[in-house]
Amino acid sequence: MNGNKGLLLVVSGPSGVGKGTVCKYLAENETDIFLSVSATSRKPREGEIDGQHYYFVTQAKFDDMIENDELLEYAKYISSSYGTPKKPCFERLDKGDNVILEIEVQGGTEVKEKYPETVMIFMVPPTMEILKDRLVGRGTETEEVVEQRIKRAYEEFGYLDKYDYIVVNDDVEKASERIKAIICAEKQKMQRTAENIKKELKI
Ligand code: ADP
Ligand code: 5GP
Repeated sequence: MNGNKGLLLVVSGPSGVGKGTVCKYLAENETDIFLSVSATSRKPREGEIDGQHYYFVTQAKFDDMIENDELLEYAKYISSSYGTPKKPCFERLDKGDNVILEIEVQGGTEVKEKYPETVMIFMVPPTMEILKDRLVGRGTETEEVVEQRIKRAYEEFGYLDKYDYIVVNDDVEKASERIKAIICAEKQKMQRTAENIKKELKI
């Protein structure tokens, strides 16, 4: 993937922290940010649109996608499968867009292993009480699923040291600004830019 102009970013964090909200805000407000649309075997929530929030597929279709090498990464989360379609991500990276994968920790670390230049961001809530309030407040999960997801949150915190940045989501706009600042700094890292700059300046 060296030579691609855009940055590949992974945004992970516990369910309900606000990853979807912040990433959507960024994609809607920044013309050079593309939010990858994942495939999942999970059933759509009320209001979720196929092809926009996810590609909702059967487990059999998901298994075919794995078989045909169509996924950049994939993982099981609780009892459903989730994966990143490869083609749109590479097309956008080649165009120079920054591509955000809003994915869980196992898939995130798989991406980092395959593509070490990936920028890894872990989003956390201001407090665990606020996390639970957001998850319950979203109103999309049963009490049992909320408990499963909170339990899973503690497991996910075990992956923190695999990430480059922590972003606290206390406020959607502030969290988005922090991610934009990370993108800006990463774009100017020596190892990403030195070769091009040397060519340009003939040094
Ligand atoms: P995730 O994608 O991480 O599971 P969502 O983006 O669905 O989380 O957000 C969970 C809930 O929290 C939603 O109802 C969303 O509107 C709300 N939310 C997200 N970010 C904030 C924030 N900074 N302050 C208050 N509520 C938020
Ligand atoms: P949800 O069911 O709340 O939409 O998503 C559950 C979890 O799956 C979240 O942590 C979300 O980031 C993650 N997820 C969504 N898409 C993908 C994907 O393509 N790959 C992986 N590994 N995780 C994903």
